[in-house]
Amino acid sequence: MIMTVLIDYRLCNGCPGRLEARCEEICPGDLFKRENGQAFLREPAACWDCCACVKACPRAALSITLPFQISVAQHRLIARLKKSHIVWKLIDRSGNSVASYNIRNRSRPMPAKK
Ligand code: SF4
Ligand code: SF4
Repeated sequence: MIMTVLIDYRLCNGCPGRLEARCEEICPGDLFKRENGQAFLREPAACWDCCACVKACPRAALSITLPFQISVAQHRLIARLKKSHIVWKLIDRSGNSVASYNIRNRSRPMPAKK
């Protein structure tokens, strides 16, 4: 079952002003680097499909393609990280949004100190 992280180079701006791009910083496999001011996935076969980069990208430039076992139409998932939840969108091959899911973040704000 192969899932693939795709980079939309129309959206990726290379996370300017950061020592490391967000995708570089968060990937547990250290699979991203920046080349010519944009993200580059250097070893796609080593990706374990954790989706951390998809959630972390502030530009929604990363998506993950669902394998046919999950989606016959091979939809892609993109994510938008909000304060309390993540908005996952299912995208068809033409780039149209076909479904949207709001998933609450598991992390909770620390209670205020008294
Ligand atoms: S986090 Fe997103 S915008 Fe930043 S370099 Fe990676 S793909 Fe590009
Ligand atoms: S899905 Fe996970 S392992 Fe794959 S490139 Fe993104 S952060 Fe790295």
